[in-house]
Amino acid sequence: MHMRHLIDSTDLSVAEVDRILNLADDIIQDPAAFGECCKGRILATLFYEPSTRTRLSFEAAMLRLGGKVEGFSSAANTSVSKGETVADTIRVVGSYADIVAMRHPKEGAPKVASLFSPVPIINAGDGGHQHPTQTLTDLLTIRSLKGRLGGITIGLCGDLKFGRTVHSLIQSLARYENVTFILISPEELQLPRHLIHEVLEPNHLPYREVQSLEEVIGELDVLYMTRIQQERFLDKAEYERLKDSYVLDAAKMQLAREDMIVLHPLPRVNEIALEVDSDPRAAYFKQVKFGMYVRMALILTLLGIKNPLAPIREEEPELVAQPPVCQNPACITTAENGLPQRFMYTDEAHTRCKCFYCEHDAK
Ligand code: ASP
Repeated sequence: MHMRHLIDSTDLSVAEVDRILNLADDIIQDPAAFGECCKGRILATLFYEPSTRTRLSFEAAMLRLGGKVEGFSSAANTSVSKGETVADTIRVVGSYADIVAMRHPKEGAPKVASLFSPVPIINAGDGGHQHPTQTLTDLLTIRSLKGRLGGITIGLCGDLKFGRTVHSLIQSLARYENVTFILISPEELQLPRHLIHEVLEPNHLPYREVQSLEEVIGELDVLYMTRIQQERFLDKAEYERLKDSYVLDAAKMQLAREDMIVLHPLPRVNEIALEVDSDPRAAYFKQVKFGMYVRMALILTLLGIKNPLAPIREEEPELVAQPPVCQNPACITTAENGLPQRFMYTDEAHTRCKCFYCEHDAK
């Protein structure tokens, strides 16, 4: 039996997600009632990559529950700069803290942490891979403002290739009934193929890949705008060429439905003009607040203070006996030499496999 962590947005069942969103609703109704729930508990925020919102959101969440926080916001002044592995860092920090939120530029780092941690690990964003607490935030925002998670048409616009919030959100929304996905991006920044082959196609989910936002905006219940992820581009000239691919402005909003909502995980660069902020359909600042409440609910849940999750018997994936070397330059295995390559099959015929840590397909 395994302790529960949140590494991937599907680590929680739909029912468990519902319970967390319901708890967040209860907290919103009466925050003071939860003000002492985490007294005596410590959250460690291990942020190896810059972040303002997510780290402060976690810290605010723990402080509002009456707990305490410790951590770092850059790896530069830590033992990592001396060459310490994620596994060792987590064994140490897990002796001090009751729960850990980790952000890392390398994909799969929180997964590695969870294999060695004596306390629950929350993935607060790993490279271009996953960002499951942003997804809980997005789900709570959509459910609160649209009244439902199923039966929606969502347009995801911008950097669908490197945007980890998009990857997590698609995997999660794919589990609700009648969700239609419209994937709006330049060809170079399309959704990674493994999400199409492993999530959208096998579940027969309606999706379209388009390049023009204007063409589809009128069909949407939710428009999820994203930033072009400058820091993930290996070719800076390509970033310069693509950075202003989409700008949502008042003219485009006129083509949208009256009840569409606009979400953005933030930070915004140029992709939403400031004039949109005063449109009642702009929900991205409300979304920030939902993020803090849902993180409060998640901390309470993972610590077992409210709604404890049953431990799970994780099915050991069948590993490839002679694994290849992961070709993803952002994979945690490229940063930590001692970490064994592990690959798991993605189809029954065992013709395809992906990295156990970062989920990149093997060539
Ligand atoms: N804050 C989000 C993330 O950490 C979105 C972004 O950075 O564009 O992925």
